[in-house]
Amino acid sequence: MIPKIKRTITSLLPVDDSREGECNGCGDCCKLPFRCAFLKESAKGRYTCSIYKVRPPNCRKFPRSRKQWETVKENCGYSFPDVGIRVEN
Ligand code: SF4
Repeated sequence: MIPKIKRTITSLLPVDDSREGECNGCGDCCKLPFRCAFLKESAKGRYTCSIYKVRPPNCRKFPRSRKQWETVKENCGYSFPDVGIRVEN
């Protein structure tokens, strides 16, 4: 639960400039650390957010940093190039 609290507090910080790619809707970040109540799964296994237009900053900006991305990197459509790695604040 501590990572979730930290993610919420730091969500007011900007997204790291080195982030590349785009969300592919895998839904992995919507299950950290527990599955979000607003996450919906279609019969075809695709995920959607039922409050997408008003989702909070920690969802809107995820992954805001390389450290956040490390928790979902297997399926996430975003990436952080190895060059120019900055230390997470
Ligand atoms: S983990 Fe990445 S690709 Fe998957 S839903 Fe979250 S932001 Fe989108």
